[in-house]
Amino acid sequence: MKPDWIQCDCKGHAGYTSWPTAIGTPSPGIVKDALRIHRDVTRELGIKLGCTTRGLGQSGGGGVSRVGSGGGGRQPQPHMTCRRSAYDEVLMIPQMLELVHEYDVDGFWVDGENWASAPCWCERCRNEFRRRSGLDGVPMTAGSRTGSTGSPSTGICSPNT
Ligand SMILES: [Zn+2]
Repeated sequence: MKPDWIQCDCKGHAGYTSWPTAIGTPSPGIVKDALRIHRDVTRELGIKLGCTTRGLGQSGGGGVSRVGSGGGGRQPQPHMTCRRSAYDEVLMIPQMLELVHEYDVDGFWVDGENWASAPCWCERCRNEFRRRSGLDGVPMTAGSRTGSTGSPSTGICSPNT
């Protein structure tokens, strides 16, 4: 049997990497670089090496976590990232480039994007909503027509009506 691919789990939802990354947070307890071993062996056998990594659905810290509406109160969502944060530029893309440069991986499976995509109510996102809509208030729940300032807004989908 000769598989087309070998795939290694490279980063989980908690944000730990399975390789000794210089950019993020390696999993505690790494004693040997298993990804290096997989790369060396797959190269020797002529088998492609892929990496499974989490994209948007990852614990962040450093202000990259999504803030949910929490049904009116804003709650941090530590396992999801805010799309307006620097997560992509300071962590996700640099880590993927590290895997390309250091291990010459042949591909990625970026997992969990469907369930990790959700609205965010952090300061950055609320400011962007105000900028794009021209409204002062930001609806705090789906279907809400009242902005966070208490002033009436005209809704998320039709801000000018
Ligand atoms: Zn946000």
